Amino acid sequence: MTGNEIRTRFLEHFASREHLVLPSAPLVPQGDPSTLFISAGMQPLKPYYLGLSQPPAPRLATCQKCLRTGDIDEVGKTDRHHTFFEMLGNFTPTGAYFKETAIPLAWELVTQRFHMPVERLRVTIHPTDDQAHDIWMQQTGMTADHITRLEDNWWGLGEGPCGPDSEIWWDRGREVGCGQEDCVPDHCDRFTEFWNLVFPQYDQRGPIEGTSGDAVKRGVASGALVPLEHPAIDTGMGLERISYILQGKTNVFDTDLFEPIIGPSHAPRRAVGDALRCRPARRRCSRCHGRAISRSDSQEGDHPRGHRPRGGAIPAHAQ
Ligand SMILES: [Zn+2]
Repeated sequence: MTGNEIRTRFLEHFASREHLVLPSAPLVPQGDPSTLFISAGMQPLKPYYLGLSQPPAPRLATCQKCLRTGDIDEVGKTDRHHTFFEMLGNFTPTGAYFKETAIPLAWELVTQRFHMPVERLRVTIHPTDDQAHDIWMQQTGMTADHITRLEDNWWGLGEGPCGPDSEIWWDRGREVGCGQEDCVPDHCDRFTEFWNLVFPQYDQRGPIEGTSGDAVKRGVASGALVPLEHPAIDTGMGLERISYILQGKTNVFDTDLFEPIIGPSHAPRRAVGDALRCRPARRRCSRCHGRAISRSDSQEGDHPRGHRPRGGAIPAHAQ
């Protein structure tokens, strides 16, 4: 499955479940001075989550161009760090559905449309999130020994909407990591996280002491975390990450998504040509940054060439 097919399959899955597919917003934020570049799929939709404006539909899906520089020193050194990426996501800014729908929708996509074998999938949840645990167990058939509780499964900005999240991980095989039989996600290189389902269900109004289960429980008890009237959904799946898994590659740079950057007729090749012939780490950096350059020049939101939904955005079925 090519990267373009994966992108299309994701968006069509959610379009067929009454989601309005929006084009990617430009990489440079419009009317949002908080960051130099869009860094998350949800960022252009923030006004909808904050109630500042009404979303065009209650259920949304996008493939958003993003650029993050937080890990820039890691680019090229690891199999998975890169600055420019495309983030696939489905969203319910006004709470059209919550975990009970988001989890089965995600599971249906990975197991039925991406045909990922269930025995190689793992799930992590926040220690406090018994609700997500029960949905994974009852609605997807995930077994308890494949669900790990991690304190890191928490998303928030220190104030405003926040909550637990649940990640889906791919098992690269016992031979890849520590080799221990009881290895779990986030222990070593064996498991790769590829989709984060974020469940904003609290309004953070005061400080909390970390994101452990106890800290969150204390936050709820003290009023620092107030349950939201309309808990929402915000998910993110890196296209490059899922592509390297589905294409059976060992790193994101070997996926077909990076091929245009090093193809014989593409302009950025000239710009980075010398570096491409250098050490592997530098070659990977060049591919990553070249891809960012080649995809950041459009002045308006776009879909990658050849994959713009017919007639623009795909209309939701239930408008
Ligand atoms: Zn391990």
